[in-house]
Amino acid sequence: MSQSLATVAYLGAAILFILSLGGLSNPETSRRGNLFGMVGMALAVLATVFGPRVSPMGVAWIVGALVVGGGIGLYAAKVVKMTQMPELVALMHSLVGLAACLVGFASYVDTSIQLQGAEKVIHEVEIYVGILIGAVTFSGSLIAFGKLNGKIGGKPLLLPARHWMNLVGLLVVIWFGREFVHASTVAEGMLPLIVMTVIALLFGIHMVMAIGGADMPVVVSMLNSYSGWAAAATGFMLGNDLLIVTGALVGSSGAILSYIMCNAMNRNFISVIAGGFGSGGGSTPAPSGEAAEPQGEVVPVSAAETAELLRDAKSVIIVPGYGMAVAQAQHTVYEITKTLREKGVNVRFGIHPVAGRMPGHMNVLLAEAKVPYDIVMEMDEINEDFPDTDVVMVIGANDIVNPSALEDPGSPIAGMPVLEVWKAKTSIVMKRSMASGYAGVDNPLFYKENNRMLFGDAKKMLDEVLGALKG
Ligand code: NDP
Repeated sequence: MSQSLATVAYLGAAILFILSLGGLSNPETSRRGNLFGMVGMALAVLATVFGPRVSPMGVAWIVGALVVGGGIGLYAAKVVKMTQMPELVALMHSLVGLAACLVGFASYVDTSIQLQGAEKVIHEVEIYVGILIGAVTFSGSLIAFGKLNGKIGGKPLLLPARHWMNLVGLLVVIWFGREFVHASTVAEGMLPLIVMTVIALLFGIHMVMAIGGADMPVVVSMLNSYSGWAAAATGFMLGNDLLIVTGALVGSSGAILSYIMCNAMNRNFISVIAGGFGSGGGSTPAPSGEAAEPQGEVVPVSAAETAELLRDAKSVIIVPGYGMAVAQAQHTVYEITKTLREKGVNVRFGIHPVAGRMPGHMNVLLAEAKVPYDIVMEMDEINEDFPDTDVVMVIGANDIVNPSALEDPGSPIAGMPVLEVWKAKTSIVMKRSMASGYAGVDNPLFYKENNRMLFGDAKKMLDEVLGALKG
């Protein structure tokens, strides 16, 4: 393939990626967005593999790597459960970071690259910065992976003088950067490069360990952004324009997402990154699933009673959370919605921006179950309607409906906007036990007078509710 054809293909791929991002902003156009992304990526890979910069021997190596990598990816995509998707995404971000590090070291020791003067300095700065971003992304994403799958607790690790440690680390990295650029041989430059890599790896670990459970959504989107910048840095090192454009697209869209997440949680981005949020001055966050201290009496209900409350209601709002994803209850939720709407009940969904374990988690599940988009409302659109609602059904959600976010300034989730379900005539919370949610905070909603608890697995309980509704 000639250089000009490869350039045209790269341009086409870049346009497809932009259209893909545009499509993904809305559930109705997201399928098309995905398709654009896939076609763009296929075009990009083909234009790179058969492009002018790859020798026939190189093609063989790349195809071999594609078969191995593609095989592992295909296997992982087949066996991963929907609830493990956030961990998988974190793991993939770490691979982008690792790739940036490896490409950086490889292009530093590559003897075929002979540059002089300013060009040499620019190339070395690209390598240094590329490995720096890559190493932070790699180790930070691995810790995020551990936090998302529960292997590492949600409690923030707050080392004494941590901000000073970060500052000293930054100064050391800058000083070694100067040493690196001034090194006259590869062997001489290797030491500063390795020292910086180790500091960057430690910084990535420290940064994510210092973030509290409640702030993990921001971390996930932030690492998404870092992985984009790592890819862009790789593009600079390899002189690949498409990789630079694609990396910048991912980096900037991830940064916008982090900003949206911060707004949704009423957090200051810098404070989240500096760490310690989510520990609060109130109760200490426990790892997800730990039982919380009881606060009073709860009123349990049966599936049959729930069905009766729903049947008698004129308006119902369903609030899904992580537990709906765990129970894979979305199809039964759709059946219940259909049955109630046929009976003339006004059913809508209230979606919190950080419900579940990844951005858009609930929207994806509801779309999969074919719930009509026009009854799926964002938190801001529906929060005012709770006082005029007869029944709210909370399905496997906890932190996103926790009144202490608004009522208790000492709470680790204080200030986070939540779905104000307790303002409805009756709320029914469907979960298996009194355990706390991801942020490890007790939930006073369960003890409110107008709240009922339907204990059990969401799928099993909803099947029973559906049976009672139809019976
Ligand atoms: P939570 O984790 O707060 O609560 C989920 C609840 O679901 C649990 O209390 C659990 O209670 C219940 N549950 C689990 N399995 C089942 C089941 N099979 N059947 C019925 N219930 C079940 O989830 P929310 O969606 O309310 O809030 C999301 C939390 O995750 C927030 O703290 C957010 O910050 C965090 N987060 C969000 C990310 C995102 O991008 N969206 C990323 C990372 C973290 P029980 O065990 O008693 O059943």
